Amino acid sequence: MSKKMSPESLMMSYGYKPSLSEGAIKSPIFQTSTFAFESAEAGKAFFEVAYGLREKNEGEELGLIYSRLNNPDLEILENRLTLWDEAEDAAVFESGMSAITTALLQFLSPGDLILHSNPIYGGTDHFIKHVLPRFQINVIGFDPLESEEDIIQKIEASGCADRLKMVYVETPANPTNHLIDLELCRRVADYFSKEEKALVVVDNTYMGPIWQHPLKFGADLVIYSATKYIGGHSDVIAGACLGSKEHIAKIKEMRTFLGNMAGPWTGWLLLRSLETLKIRMEKQAENAAYVFNVIKDHPKVERIGYLGAIKEGTPQYEIFKKQYTSAGAMLSIILKGGEKEAFKFLNSLKLIKLAVSLGSTESLAQHPASMTHAGVDHDEKIKFGIKDSLVRLSVGVENPADLVWDIEQALEHIE
Ligand SMILES: *Cc1c(COP(=O)(O)O)cnc(C)c1O
Repeated sequence: MSKKMSPESLMMSYGYKPSLSEGAIKSPIFQTSTFAFESAEAGKAFFEVAYGLREKNEGEELGLIYSRLNNPDLEILENRLTLWDEAEDAAVFESGMSAITTALLQFLSPGDLILHSNPIYGGTDHFIKHVLPRFQINVIGFDPLESEEDIIQKIEASGCADRLKMVYVETPANPTNHLIDLELCRRVADYFSKEEKALVVVDNTYMGPIWQHPLKFGADLVIYSATKYIGGHSDVIAGACLGSKEHIAKIKEMRTFLGNMAGPWTGWLLLRSLETLKIRMEKQAENAAYVFNVIKDHPKVERIGYLGAIKEGTPQYEIFKKQYTSAGAMLSIILKGGEKEAFKFLNSLKLIKLAVSLGSTESLAQHPASMTHAGVDHDEKIKFGIKDSLVRLSVGVENPADLVWDIEQALEHIE
């Protein structure tokens, strides 16, 4: 094509050749475990590339071998996912957690140090704090409002500053919506980098792949739970990791041995979801802004954590302006009262579903302190602002007037 097309224009066709599939306009589901080689020589050539026994020749693609290594539905999906973040390559997984753990296991070794932001997704938090130390990996956390100097000092005081291999970040922080400056993370990683560069890895599930593009701010790897916005219909669990060809080749090597790639059916479902990704996310953000404006001054609401509510002139606002193209579709509603009031509100919702997860077509509400963040210890909950009165709302694509009606009637049920 002579014109450079936008990702949303390419989501229906990019990376797929109908002529290879009887002219089918959509990619079939390649429900097969293995692929027939045209000749023994072709099979040998594929394996030489797959096992890194030689470099690829100019223009040579890895041939199809076995669905744990590659499959057309996954390859098309990986190609399409690179477009939003302008990444060189991508790897897809059967869950967000498998994308995260595979990246951590590939790039960390005994004696290394990982620096991570707080708070992070519960599953990731457990893996970093309780599984990595079993492999002698050192762990340090930092808070979104800590200064660059404080973070550097913390690393220097750890006694293993020369082994910093990864800065792992989630921004906005879930469920507090605090923002972290990714360029600051890059500087910290570079400050401690030796011959081997310390990687900046960003879990972009909350805002991606439309509203934040971490690679542009110096990140090396971007990770998604594709269960959330990318899948978008609360019907599939999947994950993805994006970055340079070199880094993704290493991730795929580990994926081959862990065997946690996505299956063809998952790949096909995500291809379908990607076609409507942008319009879904735009409508969700528009609905979230509408809901925020109607309920922000409600007498039963103390405050709402929302990117669109960050005050101009603050350091958080500077990060918001630089790093994000939308305020997103997540509202952290802090009610007046505590758990009793939050539960009354949640139990009174009629249209909005009481469930964890986010980024879906239907709106979902949950109680982080007792649900997604139940495993965070009490002191940390207080420190990070995960209050008993906080309800997290992921806004869907419903008619916003219906959402507001539901929220207002549920607020009325609180005594
Ligand atoms: C859901 C989620 C994950 C885990 O993804 P799964 O697809 O459930 O394995 C990781 N990070 C964030 C921010 C999430 O919201």
